[in-house]
Amino acid sequence: MTANLLDFDADGLTAWFAQQGEKSFRARQVLRWMHQRGEGDFNAMTDIAKSLREKLLLTATVSPAPTISDKLSDDGTRKFLFDVGNGNAVETVFIPEDDRGTLCISSQAGCALECAFCSTGRQGFNRNLSTAEIIGQLWQANRALGHAPASNDGGERIISNVVLMGMGEPLANFDNLVPALRLMLDDNAYGLSRRRVTVSTSGIVPAMDRLAAACPVALAVSLHAATDGLRDKLVPINRKYPLADLMAACQRYLVHAPRDFVTFEYVMLDGVNDSDADARALLHLVRDVPCKFNLIPFNPFPASGFKRSPAERVRRFASILINGGIVTTTRKTRGVDIDAACGQLAGKVLDRSRRTLRSAETGAGLAGTFAGVELHL
Ligand code: SAH
Ligand code: SF4
Repeated sequence: MTANLLDFDADGLTAWFAQQGEKSFRARQVLRWMHQRGEGDFNAMTDIAKSLREKLLLTATVSPAPTISDKLSDDGTRKFLFDVGNGNAVETVFIPEDDRGTLCISSQAGCALECAFCSTGRQGFNRNLSTAEIIGQLWQANRALGHAPASNDGGERIISNVVLMGMGEPLANFDNLVPALRLMLDDNAYGLSRRRVTVSTSGIVPAMDRLAAACPVALAVSLHAATDGLRDKLVPINRKYPLADLMAACQRYLVHAPRDFVTFEYVMLDGVNDSDADARALLHLVRDVPCKFNLIPFNPFPASGFKRSPAERVRRFASILINGGIVTTTRKTRGVDIDAACGQLAGKVLDRSRRTLRSAETGAGLAGTFAGVELHL
């Protein structure tokens, strides 16, 4: 069976080369070719002995998920759709800014966690992405953006930051996620600093502890509510890991984290979680957790049942947090014209959890009328 070499971090690749009777420096050379230079053709790896290249052609591939589409928004945001097989597709978004370029990548085909306001959550879950499918999004985007990562030559990087904020819950796919994170950090691969790689989680507490031990990177936690009563409804995983446990997990994570704060993401839902009282309750909730807040104006999708909070409400909410001493930013919505904004990523998922069917049968969708998901293809 051929091995897909994008599935391996440095240790994994060294072990695979050892199995083939090859030295570890060969693994490092191939790692650099693949990730630093974006090379997928063994024949082009010119400083590798021809005999080894021929062997690799028979035993290995460099196979990211193929690109289905690549759309450019008016504001420069670029959205890629990748084919992960069996009718499933995932999305990746590149967001250029003045001082950085952020790639938002997906970790699962769909998501099993059913957050009420999330388009990915609404369409159900199919499967975890492999390490190759996760890192392959960065590999493909680097090539498409016309610049191999310049980790050692000091050149400008087009992709300077990676956020795991696309489709799926990264910490529910821990074993495939960690090698991909290690590749992002590896100087022989993408060479990003730990502070520039962010995992966003809805709050899977035991996996937060595992991440701190295995590969601490910057952490964003999707909070969205100040009380268990409301969070149980908006982010159902809260029923398993309630707010007190989540706050304690954030504190534990910070002992290992590359930054000295956690970023709390908070989607602003009109009339649901955006009152002055909610903001004050948040100040109380996070009093012992060094943190910043990132307020996300809700991005609508068909039959979501929610509305975006008015801009004035968001400003007032932010000012209460700021006056309470918390650095608070409001996320600019980008890429709306190509459905690339947070929570709008729909990809294409054959729902193995049969959630779309259940929703249709029971009318359990929030809007009551929800009967399946419109795909943004
Ligand atoms: N599963 C992870 C990461 C992916 S979602 C998590 O939940 O953190 C990335 C962010 O987008 C999360 O904070 C999520 O709550 C938010 N989000 C989801 N749907 C949204 C929507 N419709 N509008 C705005 N933000 C949304
Ligand atoms: Fe999954 Fe995150 Fe969407 Fe919740 S917000 S359903 S955890 S992708």
